[in-house]
Amino acid sequence: MNLLRDLIDLIIPPLCCVCKRRLKNDEKILCNDCYSRIRLITPPYCERCGRPLPNLDINVCNTCIVEKHPFSYVRSVSPYEGIIESLIILLKYNGKRQTSKILGGLMSKVVKMEETYRNCELIIPVPLHTTRKRERGYNQAELLGNELSSELNIPIIPNALIRTRATPSQTKLPTEHRKKNVLGAFSINKRRQELFSGKTVLLVDDVFTTGATLNECTKTLIKGKTTDVLGIVCAVAGWELAIKTSDKRP
Ligand SMILES: [Zn+2]
Ligand SMILES: [Zn+2]
Repeated sequence: MNLLRDLIDLIIPPLCCVCKRRLKNDEKILCNDCYSRIRLITPPYCERCGRPLPNLDINVCNTCIVEKHPFSYVRSVSPYEGIIESLIILLKYNGKRQTSKILGGLMSKVVKMEETYRNCELIIPVPLHTTRKRERGYNQAELLGNELSSELNIPIIPNALIRTRATPSQTKLPTEHRKKNVLGAFSINKRRQELFSGKTVLLVDDVFTTGATLNECTKTLIKGKTTDVLGIVCAVAGWELAIKTSDKRP
């Protein structure tokens, strides 16, 4: 198989999925230069939603002061920008499922570094509606969950949650519409409930914007008797807004 792979690589040299430069022998999917340009979120960040904060004087971003999320914690690898944004777009809209290896790898590094995640017993991905999953061929959150599962050695239950409504994409909707859009859009899979009731769950998604999707999934899981829900995502969007408003606080 390796010989065949080498032969294919010789005929069609593998390129970096973002900058299209020819990959070196030690590089896979993404070149080292692009990888090094991924901006990781480092402290200080919001202790609830993981958004970057402007200084160490505050623990919580302005959006989390206004809204109390039902999950106990969520972290993002990076702001939604640059290389991370390109990788997520390739994963969601261009069929490049291999990018989930890079994104999932980065997510697992964040989880491993944080004491808060130690009690997570199960991984549950945010589900896609069956129609969307059929169109895309896969659920990107499930692919990310698979990477996390093998890196962290925690089992994944891909079908614990069911998306009961085919909701329009959240990406371009304003905050209030996002909430309505996903309201009641999920239910638990009763045939899997005994696997996750009484457990602390790590909920996986690609992008965190207002938190509407993670909020709704968490509420559904809590109805299904999970003990606690923590989240991990690749990127947080709208983080500039959170910082700007935080700056104005006394
Ligand atoms: Zn590159
Ligand atoms: Zn926050």
